[in-house]
Amino acid sequence: MLGPVTTGRPTTPRTHRRVRSRRTRIVLVSGAVAVVLAVAVLVVAVVVPLLRPAGPRPLFQLPVACGETWQLGTYPGHDDYDVDMFPTEGRAWGRPVLVSYAGEVTVAGINGSLGGRTPEDPDGSRGRGGGYWVKIDHGGKWETQYLHLLEPPLVRVGQRVAQGEQIGRVGSTGNSGAPHLHYEQRRGWEKVEAHFDGVPSGITHDDTEYTVKRKSNNCVPE
Ligand SMILES: [Zn+2]
Repeated sequence: MLGPVTTGRPTTPRTHRRVRSRRTRIVLVSGAVAVVLAVAVLVVAVVVPLLRPAGPRPLFQLPVACGETWQLGTYPGHDDYDVDMFPTEGRAWGRPVLVSYAGEVTVAGINGSLGGRTPEDPDGSRGRGGGYWVKIDHGGKWETQYLHLLEPPLVRVGQRVAQGEQIGRVGSTGNSGAPHLHYEQRRGWEKVEAHFDGVPSGITHDDTEYTVKRKSNNCVPE
């Protein structure tokens, strides 16, 4: 009886090799598919919104109490379109800071460092950056920012806020010389001239000192 013909080379290693190479191919193909999917998701989630044009300007209101008159201003070295707000009557410390227009809170925390300026110690150490601050997304690529608040914001990230809702109180945290509200309006992450109640503020470039008085129409219908 003849035994099985052998070539002297066992067949098992080749089978192993074939299985291993098939596995490698499956891993490579699924890896490539995952990369393509990841790029597609990135394009849809990040690039498409970036390219989309901004929506119409929301009817922003002054971020302070209805009927109050505040001085809006800027100074050389501030930054283009940045607005500093001081009340024309009464002291600034602790005055309510209100939402300019309905939206969703995207930042509520500390920017830079707080420093030590408080109503009890107005000449305390100066902090860095915006101090306690809030950022609100109004949709259509429009955003507002509120800086140097006295205390931790009264709102939290993800919270829906209505126009006129209080988000904090005027303070002097961060890089601030005196209690005031630093305020910005942004369209597509670029600062633009702040408009209030549909009227431009006139605060554009920071090459000269400029102030204007405006009365708040941030009045919530009863
Ligand atoms: Zn400022």
